[in-house]
Amino acid sequence: MGGGIVPAREIVDPLFAHGFILQGIGKPVAFVALDWCEVRNGAYELFRDKFAKAVGTDPVRVMLCCLHQHDAPIADLEAQQLLEKHRAKGAICDIPFLEKTASHVADDAEDALKDAKVVTHVGTGEAKVEKVASNRRYTDANGRVQYNRVSATRDPKIRDAEEGTIDAFLKTLSFWNGDTPLLGLSAYATHPMSYYGKGGVSADFVGMARRRRQADTPKVFQMYASGCSGNVTAGKYNDGDPANRAVLADRMHAAMAAAWKATKKTPVKEVAFRSVRLSLEARSSTGFSEEELTKRLKDDPKPFGQCLAALGLSWKKRVDAGRPIDLPVLDFGGAVLAVLPAESYVEFQLAAQEQRPESFVLVAGYGECGPGYIPIERAWKENDGNLADWCWVNPGSEKRMTDAIGKALKN
Ligand SMILES: [Zn+2]
Repeated sequence: MGGGIVPAREIVDPLFAHGFILQGIGKPVAFVALDWCEVRNGAYELFRDKFAKAVGTDPVRVMLCCLHQHDAPIADLEAQQLLEKHRAKGAICDIPFLEKTASHVADDAEDALKDAKVVTHVGTGEAKVEKVASNRRYTDANGRVQYNRVSATRDPKIRDAEEGTIDAFLKTLSFWNGDTPLLGLSAYATHPMSYYGKGGVSADFVGMARRRRQADTPKVFQMYASGCSGNVTAGKYNDGDPANRAVLADRMHAAMAAAWKATKKTPVKEVAFRSVRLSLEARSSTGFSEEELTKRLKDDPKPFGQCLAALGLSWKKRVDAGRPIDLPVLDFGGAVLAVLPAESYVEFQLAAQEQRPESFVLVAGYGECGPGYIPIERAWKENDGNLADWCWVNPGSEKRMTDAIGKALKN
């Protein structure tokens, strides 16, 4: 789980792949939200290829994202192959399990086509989430900028600090057939963990909230996606006490219900799908050259350190091979659904919304997860400690991201 943080010991609650396939706009467009931590590089392609084949579309039209629970798998083909090739102790994923899961999801998607329903209206609603998200960055009592607020923050002084930059709103996009609601997709920008790392597989508090929403509305298919939250966690409101999982779930559930209640419907007219290609550079600072990463993969005494090196190498090889990231957008005019890559910082979600101030822009993060953290430039300048590792891109990514977001959101 989590790319080698800890092996799975028990299933606390099951993980799901939820999605929809929209037909009638050229080849089908699919959106898939997976209760996994990350799907990266060759594994992302494998997943989209199988899915696309099953539903008769192109892989670029499969908008795949993860919810990013850390007590859940990370899939990266090349990274795992490298670890196996060097007989390293570290392990990221079980490749046969990945293939089996991707096939299983694709088969279910194909079956779902038989049950297609007509969408006449799109609904949009939003609600403020109370006391869940906070930025890792805050200013301390001495006026110094800190980046050390994590999902479970035990120091009360750090919890008491300002919330920092977040997107306060949970958004719910819904599909309707006349007056009958068919599906609700809710999204909010926060790392979705209350606690993790003990070996208990779980969809965590967002999965709990989603399950309760599903029970409230048995005839509406309720989905959830995590927004861009590379630098956002529940840390201000969570000291890691296991009891907080249900508390955070309550707050998410309340916002999901309120967003649903606030829903406004608009008839579906024109629907467009666009995808923009995004190239990010592989990180070139000390410790991230091919030689250094290969050495670390072989020699790091910690198995997780070997995994980190393998993940970095996998991304580097992909960049060297000239395989850009897809940044897909499904555009209903008044409502837009976008998937941004990896652990994009929340500022990119806000930038996407700013591109279309007149529209309702729902952003899912954790699409192609190869890059790791995608920070804004300020974070580099302020020595954001989270970027010491798990970030395999160079400074300068902010401009590349905002340019691609601008192109993708342009209607
Ligand atoms: Zn994360």
